[in-house]
Amino acid sequence: MIDAHAHLIDSKIDAENIINNMASDKLDMIINIGTCVKDSKKGVKLAAENENIYTTVGIHPEYASSVTEQKLQTIDELASRDKVVAIGEIGLDYHYEITEEIVEKQKQIFIEQIKIAHKHGLPIVIHCRDAADDVIKILKDNKQFLTNGFCMHCYSEGSRYYQTFKDMGSYFSFTGNITYKKTDRSYLKNLDKDKIMVETDSPYLAPEPLRGTINAPKNVWITAQKVADELEMSLTDFNNLVTKNIKTFYRIK
Ligand SMILES: [Zn+2]
Repeated sequence: MIDAHAHLIDSKIDAENIINNMASDKLDMIINIGTCVKDSKKGVKLAAENENIYTTVGIHPEYASSVTEQKLQTIDELASRDKVVAIGEIGLDYHYEITEEIVEKQKQIFIEQIKIAHKHGLPIVIHCRDAADDVIKILKDNKQFLTNGFCMHCYSEGSRYYQTFKDMGSYFSFTGNITYKKTDRSYLKNLDKDKIMVETDSPYLAPEPLRGTINAPKNVWITAQKVADELEMSLTDFNNLVTKNIKTFYRIK
């Protein structure tokens, strides 16, 4: 099994311990995800030092207000380093009250990083929180830069938006919140099977019954079981499917 999205640089995470236990946790690979320049740099180093760790580089919308031209240039430089498999996570986050100015800044750095991905031939990992309409508009307006594919990480837009993202060729990556009681799972069967991925978003979003605890990559198995059940697939077949999909998306041999 692969965890398609984890934050191993996060201070709540003991990356060394997680990496040492990968074999016993039946984890073949973890994709570490960048959220700022500092942890993107650390992610590149972590991937260089550990065979089964790959990484993305990028600036999360949450940090939009402090982004400078210099920081974007650093992401551009990091994008060409070994084992960098995508630009992310990037996107829009309107969950907390933000000013119009910050919204504009989020949009601007989202678009600039989409262009960096295109320049380096990399796919994009998208963070979207309470901002689906604007994310869709930006993706449509910048379609010419999406030639290497994109995934909706922690897909949480439910039935209302899945068809739009599906039509745009998106991958759908599911995390612990797909296991929560009130989550809409009715559309899962309508997705293309070859576009489904699973992830933990560790240390966030631990799946049921661990909800509220610090999440870890090994819990990707719990989320996988839930999605496999919805698709009426065996866990073995589902593991083979998502392993193939994640490797295809991130272009890992
Ligand atoms: Zn994340």
